[in-house]
Amino acid sequence: MSELLGLTPTARYGDGAADDTAGDTAGGARGGALHLSAILPAASAAIGHPIGTAVHHDPAALQRALGLPDATSAIVVLVDGLGYWNLAMRLGHAPYLRSLMNETANQRPIATCAPSTTVAAMATFGTGTCPGLTGMAGYTQLNPVTGKLSQLIQFTDAIPPSDLQRQPTVFERLALRDVRVTSCGLPKFKDSPLTEAALRGPAYIGGVTPRDRLLAACESAKTPGLTYLYIRDADKIGHSYGWDSDKWIGVFERIDAQLAALKRNAPRGTLIVVTADHGMIMADPEQRIDIAEEPQLSRGVRVVGGEPRALMLYAEEDEPAGDIAHRWRERLGGLALVRTRDEAIAQGLFGPVDDRVRPMLGDVLVAAGESVTIVDSRTQSDKATHLPSVHGSQSMMESDIPCLIDVA
Ligand SMILES: [Zn+2]
Repeated sequence: MSELLGLTPTARYGDGAADDTAGDTAGGARGGALHLSAILPAASAAIGHPIGTAVHHDPAALQRALGLPDATSAIVVLVDGLGYWNLAMRLGHAPYLRSLMNETANQRPIATCAPSTTVAAMATFGTGTCPGLTGMAGYTQLNPVTGKLSQLIQFTDAIPPSDLQRQPTVFERLALRDVRVTSCGLPKFKDSPLTEAALRGPAYIGGVTPRDRLLAACESAKTPGLTYLYIRDADKIGHSYGWDSDKWIGVFERIDAQLAALKRNAPRGTLIVVTADHGMIMADPEQRIDIAEEPQLSRGVRVVGGEPRALMLYAEEDEPAGDIAHRWRERLGGLALVRTRDEAIAQGLFGPVDDRVRPMLGDVLVAAGESVTIVDSRTQSDKATHLPSVHGSQSMMESDIPCLIDVA
């Protein structure tokens, strides 16, 4: 487990087979084609309508690297919060997913984006690009228009979705070519700001129950094209009860049954890809650090954004980012990876970065290690600072995701 909590090398964006700087990490290389951003471009190539993006110019190469067979119809399923190692460690509860993981081609994690969190990952997935271009870089981030923190699940105090996120989605671009594109999800997410920002373009079918949604996905797949199916509950239950809880296992078993039913009911020959936006770790209450109680950490910091595993610190005027980073490194030592924005961008953490996105990213970026969470009780709710399971950082548990391939 300590290896799975170790921070992985920063995954690169591009069309290459993988990033060999990550080659000595368990499970092999990650990044390049083996990345969340590659899935929809690769799927578009698999259905014969290749869509390149600002970071992926060769969708056919992505399709080959990920091992997606050609098909007239594809269903891409995103299971929120189901990291590769969360899945691998609970396979005994999931006969269908176990059968997929028995295939050699599926026995390799791919990387999600940094931070490994829903809003950043959904936009990375939907556009086939990166947070540096989508402007969606954290659960909360600075809104440069107001100078205040915005929250990007509900878009509270945020720049409007289509103005913040200006990259075309793969769905939009397929629809422009008259390819059928369908999204199956909860009715309440149909017009949500997060959907509009990250996943706009498809015809949306809202289904009340998980079974309604998977049957809608199977029905849509009768027409050639691309279907997206979203499954929420592993993340939701993980945050509330911990991913090691019996409740999580119960949800995981139901998700496995839903995916097996998806395969049974999908038209023969439909390509099925199962992926996730991020994994999860158990937070250790003994390793919770509260910025409110540590003057060395709060000094010079005007606003704390991001989330407890991936913080974005916005400096007070005239406070050098390097000084804040120095104080945080002194306090945290090996418990976190602390980088200034310039260092993080130079390492490719957010992929290529638009000038307009730069001020949204923190002046200092902190990726928590081990089971550490770093909270701020001055501004965050008691519930938010005590979640049993969390994600956002660069550990294998959080940033390694599955890309499981099946054909109905
Ligand atoms: Zn998520």
